[in-house]
Parts: sequence; C-alpha cells; structure tokens
Amino acid sequence: MVRGPSIFDKLSKLVSGEKIRKIRCFSCEHKQEVSSAAQSSLCPSCGSYIDLRDLKISGPFGRSIQTQGEIYLTSKGELTSAKAACGSAIIEGKLRGSLVCNGKVLLRAHGKVMGGIEAYELVVEKKCDVECVRVVKAHSMEINGKISARVECQTAVVINKGGFLEGSVYARSISVEKGGFFSGELFIGKPDPTQPEGAPGVVPKQQGLFGEGDFATV
Ligand SMILES: [Zn+2]
Repeated sequence: MVRGPSIFDKLSKLVSGEKIRKIRCFSCEHKQEVSSAAQSSLCPSCGSYIDLRDLKISGPFGRSIQTQGEIYLTSKGELTSAKAACGSAIIEGKLRGSLVCNGKVLLRAHGKVMGGIEAYELVVEKKCDVECVRVVKAHSMEINGKISARVECQTAVVINKGGFLEGSVYARSISVEKGGFFSGELFIGKPDPTQPEGAPGVVPKQQGLFGEGDFATV
C-alpha cells in the first residue's frame, strides 16, 4: 500500500505524456528531477529560483540567459550574449558569446566559432565542421564530426568513426576509435594547463560553474 501512490503517480504521468528531466542548480549544483512541463523550479537545497524555459534563437540575440531549459540556436541564429547559461543546447548557428551548459551540448555548426563553449558533455555531431577560436571546455567529449580547437576535458575525449579533432588537447584520457582521427598536441593527465588566460575553466565543484563574474565578454 505504501508504494501504491507513487506507482500510480508514475503511470498517470506516463499516460499524460509527462516526462521527467534531471536538472542541476546553477548556484549549488544540486540535482533534482522535475516535470518536463514545468516552467520554473526552486532548488530544494539552496532555494535558488531556476528557470526551466527553452529558448529557440533564430536571429540576433544578445541578452543574458540563465535557464536549465534548452537553448536551440538555429542555423539562422546568432548568439552574442556575454552570458548564456543553460541546461542543454543545440548549436547550429553563429555562437559569438559565452555558452555555459551544465548538461549536454550538441554542436552541429559550420565555420568559425568565435564564442566560448563550456559544457558538461559536448557532442560534436556528424555534420559539424568547426574551428573554435576560444578554448573549448567540457567534462566529457564525444566527437563524431570535425572540430579544430584547443580542448580542455576533465575526463575522456572519445573520437568516433568519422570524427576528426585537430588542436591541443588536455584531457584525462583520449580514445580514438577506428575511422576517427586526431591531429595535434596531446596532454594526458590533469587538465590543468598553465596558461596566461585568466580562465574560469575548471572550477572546483563547490564553487559551481555559474558564479557571477565567471563570464568574460568576448
Ligand atoms: Zn541550489
């Protein structure tokens, strides 16, 4: 009888097409599950307000963004925000600002990427062919398309069949699958390169990825 209501609850949610998604608080990184239909939430750990709205950008956009929802930058979109923080993102258009995502970023753009990308999980998709001017930072990276960049990855970089990575790579590990290519300098170990850039890069977990002042303008 104790388990009854929760099972019923789950079933009724399934029936109504409601989905659950996992989000992470911008302030304290506390994880929680929310309904995909919810527009906002409060962090049960620190009480921060969390915006959950998705944003589709199909033109010039320069305002500051902080949502745990998805940013979809279409091929016609141009994102120039100095701060674009999100829960997930799909990048097809021009990224000139700073994108910080504590979930998955799907990169399928073309040409030069002038903006910054910092993601928990970065997936370079098959049709992607980019040259990133700024350092690309991620917790983990999967490469199925072409990318030229300086990469800082806290765990593993995986280059799959058809994937091509060119540049300097700082990572815990790298694996190049059959049909994948890597060309450049490789630094395996702690992704903590000594560099002149005042990089907000690999921030200790406690501080969170999204502290004010972490976002440098291009
Ligand atoms: Zn919190």
